[in-house]
Amino acid sequence: MGLHDAWEKMMSDPEYDVVVVGAGNAAFCAALAAQENGARVLVLERAPTEEAGGNSRYTAGAIRFAHEGLDDLKTVVDLTDEEIGNADFGTYTTDQFYDDLFRLTQFRSDPELSEMLVTKSLETVQWMRTKGIKFQPSYGRQAFKVDGKFKFWGGLCVETWGGGEGLIELETKAALERGIEILYETRAILLLYDHEKVHGVTVKHKGKVRDIHAKAVILAAGGFESNAEMRTRYLGPGWEMAKVRGTRFNTGDGINMALSIGAMSHGNWSGCHAVGWDMNAPEFGDLSVGDNFQKHSYPLGVMLNADGERFVDEGADFRNYTYAKYGREILNQPGMMAWQIFDQKVTDRLRDEYRIRRVTKVTANTLEELVVKLEGVDPDKALETLKAYNDAVDTATPFNPAVLDGRGTTGLALPKSNWANTLDEPPYEAYGITCGITFTFGGLRIDANGAVVDTEQMPIPGLYAAGELVGGLFYFNYPGGTGLMSGAIFGKLAGGAAGAAVTGS
Ligand SMILES: Cc1cc2nc3c(=O)[nH]c(=O)nc-3n(C[C@H](O)[C@H](O)[C@H](O)COP(=O)(O)OP(=O)(O)OC[C@H]3O[C@@H](n4cnc5c(N)ncnc54)[C@H](O)[C@@H]3O)c2cc1C
Repeated sequence: MGLHDAWEKMMSDPEYDVVVVGAGNAAFCAALAAQENGARVLVLERAPTEEAGGNSRYTAGAIRFAHEGLDDLKTVVDLTDEEIGNADFGTYTTDQFYDDLFRLTQFRSDPELSEMLVTKSLETVQWMRTKGIKFQPSYGRQAFKVDGKFKFWGGLCVETWGGGEGLIELETKAALERGIEILYETRAILLLYDHEKVHGVTVKHKGKVRDIHAKAVILAAGGFESNAEMRTRYLGPGWEMAKVRGTRFNTGDGINMALSIGAMSHGNWSGCHAVGWDMNAPEFGDLSVGDNFQKHSYPLGVMLNADGERFVDEGADFRNYTYAKYGREILNQPGMMAWQIFDQKVTDRLRDEYRIRRVTKVTANTLEELVVKLEGVDPDKALETLKAYNDAVDTATPFNPAVLDGRGTTGLALPKSNWANTLDEPPYEAYGITCGITFTFGGLRIDANGAVVDTEQMPIPGLYAAGELVGGLFYFNYPGGTGLMSGAIFGKLAGGAAGAAVTGS
């Protein structure tokens, strides 16, 4: 059915049980759960099909869930005997998941939401699998080969099949197969609200405005990361200059629509997930590059700012536990940029994203030659910093990237705590980065049914929310792979509750 036909059909019969705003992972999980509970469901996607799927489509599909080892993993991923023999997947217990979440969010994460996130993670990936979503081991990004065996690290060992593209493709298929309707290029602009209950949404499609009535609306329209004005207002001065890693369509619509009818805000409104991102990347994400503008191998090297100084402990922890907060550190540096530097001891271990064509990279055979090629950087100070760093490396402790190896520096005011290697095997490689924002942490407050609550903390009848626009889970930092997991869990929760409420099931 063409887009226009879909619109006409929908307009001739505009009565749905549940309307879901957005077509990313949280939205599809909500739609599938509502449908499973007997609801007639419509999904509204603001983007055209070529750009549909939100940030979820830009991901590599890394998904964090608690598991007790192989027996649990085999309920999610098909593994051959050979794969089992060649890998050490380890375990990631609910206790470890809690520890990571609370440690990284400085114990601010909402207790009710975090309990759901951790305890429902395994059952939710299993549920996704029943809907036709496929998963695979994350060999490329989350494992290092140690003694011939893949050793997974960082609490993450599984990704969605085909990454974000594969996830959205299979979720779209699963929705359509179950009779869920999807309307693209259709933006929700207002909630239909009579001061007691939400009755649907007003939408805009190709310049035309219409009301769509529904017994429940689920907002899954992402955060406000693609809205420069809101970024600056809430995250602070300078954030209008950050590059957006993902979709250009997450401009805070869902949050704003809900706040305008009295919804309660929640969470770390001045916080966000932001990473090191190629300094010449475009203003918004580019699906042909996906997440490959990111430069996540900094734990293997050092980073210098424009003053020629290091500014973070590159080896403070596994990449999964530092990358989401280091974007802000880069934004705070002079010129909002930095260079990552590696030598040949580690270049073969750099992630695939370092080998793309659209990369800001310089190489040199000596450190003296390298520092003058680092555009925008004070070369003399840079050389001094690199030499002082080389002198401080504890070479007696063996290097092992699969564990926190404790091979650090001694005597530096700003240490590098793990994976410190001297820079002395040319050619040297340096990569220019700036801050890329992924998603915002502040959002709406939901209750234990996924319903949006008002400022009296009472559920707003007929209104639910899931995904990035739910506040309260993440503060300051974020454990990698949790965005997809939380979208799935709270999408399923909201869809299940909305479906059951409207169908009486
Ligand atoms: C480059 C990149 C890599 C990432 N990698 C990972 C990873 O590996 N693992 C992980 O867990 N997380 C990752 N994340 C984070 C993850 O993408 C998000 O946390 C998660 O996908 C959010 O899901 P969502 O459904 O809430 O939002 P989205 O997937 O962004 O979906 C929001 C949807 O709402 C639509 N929309 C917005 N406004 C309206 C409106 N008014 N009307 C109708 N539709 C509207 C958008 O078009 C979009 O379809 C990554 C993010 C990026 C950008």
